[in-house]
Amino acid sequence: MEKLAIEGGYPVRGSKLYYGRQWINEDDIHAVDEVLRSDFLTCGPKVDELERTLAEFGGARYAVVVNSDTSALHCACMAAGIGPGDEVITTPITFAASANCALYCGARPVFADIDPRTYNIDPESIRAHITEHTKAVVAVDFTGQAVQIDEIRAICKEHHLVFIEDAAHSIATEYKGKRVGGLADMTCFSFHPVKTITGGEGGAILTNDEKLYQKLVLAHSHGITHDESQMEGAPHEGPWYYEQISIGYNYRMTDFQAALISSQMKRIGEFKKRRQEIVKAYNDAFNQIPEIIVQQEIPESDTCRHLYVIQLDLKKLKCSRREFFDAMSAENVQCQIHYVPVYWFPYYEHLGYQKGLCPNAEAFYKGIMSVPLYPKMTDQDVHDVIHAVSKLVENYRK
Ligand SMILES: *Cc1c(COP(=O)(O)O)cnc(C)c1O
Repeated sequence: MEKLAIEGGYPVRGSKLYYGRQWINEDDIHAVDEVLRSDFLTCGPKVDELERTLAEFGGARYAVVVNSDTSALHCACMAAGIGPGDEVITTPITFAASANCALYCGARPVFADIDPRTYNIDPESIRAHITEHTKAVVAVDFTGQAVQIDEIRAICKEHHLVFIEDAAHSIATEYKGKRVGGLADMTCFSFHPVKTITGGEGGAILTNDEKLYQKLVLAHSHGITHDESQMEGAPHEGPWYYEQISIGYNYRMTDFQAALISSQMKRIGEFKKRRQEIVKAYNDAFNQIPEIIVQQEIPESDTCRHLYVIQLDLKKLKCSRREFFDAMSAENVQCQIHYVPVYWFPYYEHLGYQKGLCPNAEAFYKGIMSVPLYPKMTDQDVHDVIHAVSKLVENYRK
């Protein structure tokens, strides 16, 4: 908690509680410092170490680290062979990158609706949107709760689709006792500062499939190989020779980011525990308030929660969502909305997407608000958030 000032006998927070923030300690700073003094700033031992750590943690054979989850999703779509004319099914309740990755490849994102109780993509809606052009599903573990992985995997198998799990919210979540990472064909992580652990920026793709792994390696670094067995050109040219064998980008992560993420990985269990404690405190409080709808948890997911989304039952309140949001801000609690349905953005509208595509997602959007959730929150901070929500519901109750 920030320092409190006393104003009129009432404590006032010097700065607001935000919906998410990082927790960097001295060990993290030392880990970065060490790399800056070393020979390798990029493509060095810290990147290799992080790839091994993440693969082992996520229970996958391979990991490729990249500079963001956005890049991870793009590489995954490239590795899946997605191109013009193809369709990729995803959810509208996500960050735009989960759909943009299809556009990067010249394919068309297709939006399946959410389950109104769990807020995750509804497997039945995926099934309803499959056509002869569908190539992949990008399923997002929204707020950190695992999607219905077994159901989605079965649908993908039946229709020969590639299952890409956007696990930006869900690192350290377990599904049926197994950590996300090795459960889909490819699983993508984000290390942006609001996410569970951070590298400033950063991402990763995990897979068990060697062919996909080879393609991911090429996609994230110019399509260039140093491996003679992959070359068709002239390796006999000399020891300097490398070869570009496909198209790729520079999506590499630096060694100091990798060192920071590896250092943060040491506390991931602690972060998960604290996030779960806060979620429990919120659930206990908000389940008592009839005007607040709480996300339904599925028993298969032991969730490391990234976001805590409350849904206002606006029929029972005499305020709008905007009024509630502003009133929370006046209480020094800075909420955020996750998310505006992706296809509502003008860019998507210009591509021909229209409002009304996913009624559950649109109804959900109208009442939601993410309240602060991050491991560094004190019990007092958690109490303050609960107090602010309860007080405003009292004020606005019909
Ligand atoms: C944060 C986020 C991304 C993008 O991650 P970056 O690392 O910032 O590129 C993609 N998908 C979801 C669901 C996210 O929350």
